[in-house]
Amino acid sequence: ISSRHMTNEEISKVKELLKPSKKIVIVPHKGPDGDAMGSTLALKILLEEQGHFVHLIAPNDYPDFLKWMPYQEEVLIYDKEPQKCDPIIAEAEVIFTLDFNHLSRAGEMYEPLQAAKAKFIMIDHHQQPDDYAEITYSDVTMCSTCQMVYHFIVNIGLKEKITPQIATCLYTGIMTDTGSFRYRSTTSLTHRVIADLIEKGADNTTIHENVFDTSSYGQLQLLGCALQNLRVVEGLRTAYITLTQEELDRHNFKKGDTEGFVNYGLSLQGIVFAAIFIENEAEKIVKISLRSKGTFSVNDFARRYFSGGGHINAAGGKSDLSLQETVDKFISILPNYKTSLAL
Ligand code: 5GP
Ligand code: MN
Repeated sequence: ISSRHMTNEEISKVKELLKPSKKIVIVPHKGPDGDAMGSTLALKILLEEQGHFVHLIAPNDYPDFLKWMPYQEEVLIYDKEPQKCDPIIAEAEVIFTLDFNHLSRAGEMYEPLQAAKAKFIMIDHHQQPDDYAEITYSDVTMCSTCQMVYHFIVNIGLKEKITPQIATCLYTGIMTDTGSFRYRSTTSLTHRVIADLIEKGADNTTIHENVFDTSSYGQLQLLGCALQNLRVVEGLRTAYITLTQEELDRHNFKKGDTEGFVNYGLSLQGIVFAAIFIENEAEKIVKISLRSKGTFSVNDFARRYFSGGGHINAAGGKSDLSLQETVDKFISILPNYKTSLAL
């Protein structure tokens, strides 16, 4: 797989599509994370400055640790007010889908998006993009959609229009999707982009503090509970964590509170595959996050067994079985990967 720039043809197509002021909708994936919110907010601010009419519609709510971001109070949440959002989607002329590449990742927005007459522009770094978009800017070597949005802005000639707010949003997504610049996908180019964003007004220390130093007491207690529940699968370099609905309730769980928990499995010496299984009674599913080090593809694993996907080293999925049955299924699958997981 090679890194891929936007072609000149794609660039002129985008410029053509965005010529007179347009009705634009921007959509992040369901369960929006820092990269999804950072990229969509940055693009919204930029396009509004260019005179477009822009709505950012998230399929569902996003975590509190992102609720300080510039312009986040203008975000519409589809599952809170679908009647308000449906006509906006239907009337849009251009729809950007950011940080996902299959419309099913838009949750309940799947149907209105399917029915929309707008031209779609996808900007995304996940594996195996679907082909619903007029313009598909997909690059799986990129650390984040935020870095791609930076390149997108430069490509369409608007680099000088990057405000401190836009820089802040893009910095946030690059930071969260790279595990604060540590994952393999973080390149020298990523750091050059970050340097430029700081020069354009992103305040790095404040952004890190806003995202990482705003835990509630309950959240840290929940982390303690998760670490108590951490198990190692002997001989297969795998560790997993479970959280029941009861444990979540006991610690006043709110969306986003378990962000990053799965990584503790990988911080154990010798572990290359980590999972977390989180019971969700409201949705009657177990939400799964998977992480790996090296060449073991959790994207393939999530696609094959847990109706999910993502990247080689970070993916997610879900299960309709009970929490215990899901864990049993997981453990029973692992020996299939003995050649890559056993030492
Ligand atoms: P997380 O585990 O942090 O929720 O997600 C890790 C990566 O996997 C992210 O890039 C996310 O977009 C992707 N991902 C998470 N859950 C799902 C899912 O249910 N389906 C797909 N296709 N991707 C997912
Ligand atoms: Mn991303």
